[in-house]
Amino acid sequence: MDAGPYRRVLLKLSGESFARQGERGISMEEVLHIARQSVQAAARGTQLAVVIGGGNILRGASFTSGNTGIQEATGHSMGMLATVINGLALQDAIESLGVQTRLMTAIRMEGVAEPYIRRRAKRHLEKGRIVILAAGTGSPFVTTDTAAAQRALELEADILMKATRVDGVYSDDPEKNPHAMLYRDLTYQQVLEQKLRVMDATAISQCMEHAMPILVFNYRREGNIERAVSGERVGTLVGARRE
Ligand code: UDP
Repeated sequence: MDAGPYRRVLLKLSGESFARQGERGISMEEVLHIARQSVQAAARGTQLAVVIGGGNILRGASFTSGNTGIQEATGHSMGMLATVINGLALQDAIESLGVQTRLMTAIRMEGVAEPYIRRRAKRHLEKGRIVILAAGTGSPFVTTDTAAAQRALELEADILMKATRVDGVYSDDPEKNPHAMLYRDLTYQQVLEQKLRVMDATAISQCMEHAMPILVFNYRREGNIERAVSGERVGTLVGARRE
């Protein structure tokens, strides 16, 4: 099987991909769906690192703004821990399909997962293990999008792929506006200037600065993770302007 154009891919999965649509928490049916697709993608020989979100459980900013008696930084720590809960679920789901994984956390908790050490993560990837990266960056006040950009750069991924519920980046919210237009290609500048909903601005700027391409695609379409990883043209590609 052809490994495709990418040697190493950083896949960003939002917490919402772990829950049934419109629900919160974890549905193992959904996790297994994502796990199956990830395994198929990795079976082609592409090295796969996965950064997971925690929004299906808790987001620091919204949790603390909606509650008194808790500091925002504490809420962000809770959000980071939520990503570890998702990571544990994804790890078992992938391993139930017979593929080796390593769960690495940016906040140390050796009893449940390995600490994230960049060189060790690369070694796992070289050995063909799917590396699941949890607890975001380990620091509050940012999101797992920023963690994904950061890890894509430090692990020298060829591309950052953001799996979403819609087909790519639209001119408006496609779940609200039926006339929203889907873009196939965008530059980082277009995303920032038009405030398009791709990833948060910090993540986009970081990718722009280091020319890390971003692919935004729909993980709900069966086989799409494998298609994206094998280099098939799905979703919206964000990169530098082509000459
Ligand atoms: N978070 C954080 N630092 C990080 C990554 C995440 O403080 O480096 C917290 C933040 O509160 C965030 C929550 O963890 O809201 C869950 O992550 P995120 O909202 O990015 O999850 P997603 O939207 O991808 O499901």
